[in-house]
Amino acid sequence: MVFVLSKNKTPLAPTREAKARILLKDGKAIVHKVYPFTIRLKERKECIKKFTVKFDVGASVTGVAIVDALKCFFFAEIVHRGKVIKKVMDSRRTVRRGRRNRKTRYREPRFENRTRPEGWLPPSVKSRADNVINFAKKYAKLIPIESVVVERVSFDTSSMTKGERLNGVEYQKGSLKGIKLRDFIFQKHNHSCVYCGDRGEEIEHIIPKSKGGTNSVTNLTLSCRKCNMAKRNLSLKVFGKKIGKNLSHLKPKKTPKHASIIQSARTYTLKTLEKDFKVTTGEGWETYSNRKELNLTKQHYYDAMCIGKNYKYKIVTNKVLEIKAQGRGSRQMCRMDRFGFPRTKAKSSKGVKGFQTGDIVKAIVTKGKKIGTYLGKVAVRVSGNFNISTATETIQGIHHKYCKTIQKGDGYAYAITTIK
Ligand SMILES: [Zn+2]
Repeated sequence: MVFVLSKNKTPLAPTREAKARILLKDGKAIVHKVYPFTIRLKERKECIKKFTVKFDVGASVTGVAIVDALKCFFFAEIVHRGKVIKKVMDSRRTVRRGRRNRKTRYREPRFENRTRPEGWLPPSVKSRADNVINFAKKYAKLIPIESVVVERVSFDTSSMTKGERLNGVEYQKGSLKGIKLRDFIFQKHNHSCVYCGDRGEEIEHIIPKSKGGTNSVTNLTLSCRKCNMAKRNLSLKVFGKKIGKNLSHLKPKKTPKHASIIQSARTYTLKTLEKDFKVTTGEGWETYSNRKELNLTKQHYYDAMCIGKNYKYKIVTNKVLEIKAQGRGSRQMCRMDRFGFPRTKAKSSKGVKGFQTGDIVKAIVTKGKKIGTYLGKVAVRVSGNFNISTATETIQGIHHKYCKTIQKGDGYAYAITTIK
């Protein structure tokens, strides 16, 4: 699908690629943006239709789906750089420590001598949240977005560690939600008993309720009638010994160490999005069972589509846009060797000959060894000979006179993949 803007740049409903091609060919529209592909009409139009963005927020990848009432138009995956930020901050700390110790009197590290503003988040966590917020804000300029759907609890379906907020009370009451939770546990364990492998018949508390076990999804598992009776209120360890099996892998995982930080990041994301959009939330386990029901593979963008009550969309796209957060260069004044001594001169300027690292350029080389056409992300060099990273390779030493900017860098790298 192609995004469409009106003459005055107000967003309209997206259109099919074929139709966009005809509009461009007939001179009724121009290319507004390449990633994501957006055209701008030469006439003024209005759009009454409203769309919804759904986010499956994850630690390293966030899945995105844009939908209306019936169809799903757009898939994307935002690749975060939280880990990179952590690494960079760590290295900065090390360098500063080294500098303090180098041929000087001892100086104490700065420690808690600055107040953190209210709502402060660790840079790596804030970056992830901002990636999501920025996406919503940026795409609201390309397609009329009214509401946003986010998962209420970050739910890692592979490890099942973070389902704490969901407790089994609802399923005990026998509401619709509860039935689904029950199904979910049956599906998770493939309808078989986790202790003996026979047909699973009953929901079982891993840590018995009499010993303080909760109804949280992490503490629930599936067993057959026989094992459930045999286990009674025994702990995993004791029961394991009794049946001669090591059951330690079934132990419910504790809440992650930084759960509170993750929670506050989520609050920050929701609060910020609420300023511009109508925000609703969905449950993690619901996403999982919705996706299973539609028989879709485990992809972040499918998960995003399946969040919440509405999930039965007709998928009208076969492309996924990969959006990789890149950062916007470093503020380090010079590179260092492994001893912490300056290796390069201080950087003068980010831009070289009108180009900046991260811009998407097209180079048509007509002379020399590197004859050909290259489209990709540029890395500028003061010498004027740039490196271009295309989808498949990196070509070094392309002179700036061959290059033409397709799209200015915005701190993200883009790639399109086709769904098989
Ligand atoms: Zn059993």
